Amino acid sequence: MSDYLPPWAPRDGLRITGVRPIVTAPDVTLVVVRVETNEPGLYGLGCATFTQRFEAVAAAVEHLAPLVVGRHPGDIEDITRMVHLSGYWRNGPVLNNALSGLDMALWDILGKRLGVPVYELLGGRVRGAVPLYTHASGATIDETIAQARSLVDAGYRHIRLQTGGPGLGTYGAPGTPGGYPRAPYPDGWDVQRYLAVTPELFARARAELGAEVSLLHDVHSRLTPKQAIALCRALEPYRLFFVEDPVAPEHYDRLPEVRAASPVPIAAGEQLGSVAEAARLVTSGGVDLLRLHVSAVGGLTPARKLTALCELTGTQTAWHGPADVSPIGQAANLALDMTTSAFGIQEGHAYPDVVHEIFPGTPRARDGYVEPPHAPGWGIDIDEEQAAKHPPKRYGHERWATRVRRPDGAIESP
Ligand code: MG
Repeated sequence: MSDYLPPWAPRDGLRITGVRPIVTAPDVTLVVVRVETNEPGLYGLGCATFTQRFEAVAAAVEHLAPLVVGRHPGDIEDITRMVHLSGYWRNGPVLNNALSGLDMALWDILGKRLGVPVYELLGGRVRGAVPLYTHASGATIDETIAQARSLVDAGYRHIRLQTGGPGLGTYGAPGTPGGYPRAPYPDGWDVQRYLAVTPELFARARAELGAEVSLLHDVHSRLTPKQAIALCRALEPYRLFFVEDPVAPEHYDRLPEVRAASPVPIAAGEQLGSVAEAARLVTSGGVDLLRLHVSAVGGLTPARKLTALCELTGTQTAWHGPADVSPIGQAANLALDMTTSAFGIQEGHAYPDVVHEIFPGTPRARDGYVEPPHAPGWGIDIDEEQAAKHPPKRYGHERWATRVRRPDGAIESP
């Protein structure tokens, strides 16, 4: 008998027979884990997407496979805790993404066995559909507002606004190359210009888009705590839905003071790779909205516990959902969104058609809302033949981060 089998008797013959990573890069590089069982046609899929370190995650998935082959796939709590503890040193985005791939795949299998979508396993829906926010990111304020207006026309009521600038531009928006010609790094990003222009962007947006649209902004962790407070105060008149990641994760212990001084709700957490740190972010009073890359904290199992913590502490959720979350990962976000009163907002991404071909069942947004698939499990499959047509390349995503520097050349939190 394997050392990894549980000390209780098996209740039926169902067993995990294999665990393997699938890496595909139709748009950005995605990592999915497939868990096989000995029941013909019964398998599960989970998101393990850490685009910047996909090979390390794939290796971690292969490492954990022998720990779980032979287990009953319904023992989700025991299996995921055993895998988590078995490394002795635990957490971090590589190990947690591998764990998430396994964890979400087990939830998928459970839903398929019972013939229900995962959201029903979490207690059932508390809303009809999930409202999304999406991104308007022009090179100029005029362009950003024009993009936002077309998104409003398409039905979105929550829009993240970023606008470009000289050099690198602002996070999420294009820059003007050579914008600081007299600086050591002409393509740099200037914090003082950013602090001056961002309130101008929102003044214009509120005046031109009206009172009803929700406006959001992502600092992308580039400010000091004091600069973050100054920005949030300057944005107060424009009633933002949230300001995201005002400081870098290394400085999260300063978030409670930023939040206490900010008249604008603070959303943070997407760079965390630990469920314990995410819990502390909530209990320390550091966030109004907890914002996780759910696979980076270990998957649905830890995320549903954090969601319950949010409900109990008056905190809201705003899960990370851009291109570097796979459709399976977004399905897990939506299952949480559908089933909690702590839901704040969901980041949406319109996947290109090629992603829909690889992941049949991926839902499309309509009028600013999306419904999770209603088929059993996640309701999303993978076409491995299509996936194999898009092999990944190294260093796509992180090359961008290595170029985020101030005009004096100092590297910046991306
Ligand atoms: Mg962000």
